[in-house]
Amino acid sequence: MKIAFIAHDKKKDEMVTFTMAYKHLFEGHELYATGTTGQRIMDATGLTITRFRSGPLGGDQQIGALVAENEFDLIIFLRDPLTAQPHEPDIAALIRLCDVQNIPLATNMGTAEILVRGLARGDLNWRNIV
Ligand code: PGA
Repeated sequence: MKIAFIAHDKKKDEMVTFTMAYKHLFEGHELYATGTTGQRIMDATGLTITRFRSGPLGGDQQIGALVAENEFDLIIFLRDPLTAQPHEPDIAALIRLCDVQNIPLATNMGTAEILVRGLARGDLNWRNIV
């Protein structure tokens, strides 16, 4: 599975804790992330992650372009709903494209936990079957 991680600044600690907890699960997959998020995860977990540009510098759009090509199976995008982001249009575009392609997308930790359990059980394999 191809999985992408994005976390806004105030959510990066949560993302690091989350990926440390599920490291055993994520290491069997192809992992991608925006620049700073990816670096933080790699430093904390040792997972191999292909990093795009930082979100405000176009990283969300780079991931969005691959979502448009139906390249991703799961996106974990921990948004900060209480802080204005300079790249809000890019964020909205990425979320929209996930809806266009029916890509499982978690924008908060509650959903991320549920989706990662689905990933562990093989529930996301339907994308390779249909
Ligand atoms: P970053 O980008 O991982 O490079 O911080 C995430 C974002 O803010 O969209």
